[in-house]
Amino acid sequence: MYCKICPNCYGDSYSSSPHFTWICPYCGKDITREQGLPAGSPLVKKILEEIKTGQEKLIKK
Ligand SMILES: [Zn+2]
Repeated sequence: MYCKICPNCYGDSYSSSPHFTWICPYCGKDITREQGLPAGSPLVKKILEEIKTGQEKLIKK
């Protein structure tokens, strides 16, 4: 399984292959060209944590 983080809405979505057309299930953006990461990799977790932290900072602003 592969995971991609949508650069538009920051939603994470999963697929068995990173090579097919990949549409974000949350906002409908074509994220085929985004880099696919192995699902469950520490990098995915790190990115999601950073997004969460970033959003909290924005809310606090
Ligand atoms: Zn999206």
